[in-house]
Amino acid sequence: MTDLATVAATLRRELSARYHTVEITPDAWWLSLLRSVSIAPPLAWLRAALDVIDDATATRSVALPRLGGEGAVIVYSRAALADPVELIETVAHEHEHARVLRRDADLQVIVDYANAELRATVEARAYAVGAFARYLVTGVLQTADDIVAPLAHGYQLASAERAHCAALVESHLASMRSGVVPPLEVCVAVLEVLRAHHPDAIRVEAFR
Ligand SMILES: [Zn+2]
Repeated sequence: MTDLATVAATLRRELSARYHTVEITPDAWWLSLLRSVSIAPPLAWLRAALDVIDDATATRSVALPRLGGEGAVIVYSRAALADPVELIETVAHEHEHARVLRRDADLQVIVDYANAELRATVEARAYAVGAFARYLVTGVLQTADDIVAPLAHGYQLASAERAHCAALVESHLASMRSGVVPPLEVCVAVLEVLRAHHPDAIRVEAFR
């Protein structure tokens, strides 16, 4: 069977080509270069900024609009990069955000800053896409509670939004349980990539 690190690499390559994403990892060469330059005392501010990036990218991945261009920039966290299953889930999750950014960057700003219910909806979709990718390569389906708990914490969702989000995630999990691909474009894309490149890595009979 293909090892999951290879599957993760294929998924990164194929989805970034489809959704026009570029990626930044915390060990990017230019970050290392800045880090070595920032030892100079007058550049304490730069060192402080790099520390913030280090902290931010320890556990959290994020998709950002690409200034002046089409597509998105995805920053992968160290935690995601350290574990192939985590990385497969994260690549899928962040590409759902990238899809929205590509279609409507202004909408994403509203989602991020103005409307908690919309944010819960958008995150629920991304988490469902991530859960589907994880399910395909592990054969283990998470529960809606497993998925929504970190989301509720990270975004400090009120209980109504949290329930809304859990219900949305649950409807996608129900599709997966009955062998149906959730009606989300990136779920279809993930499955296409796995079928085309690593069919042996699909651990769920119904989706082979
Ligand atoms: Zn997200």
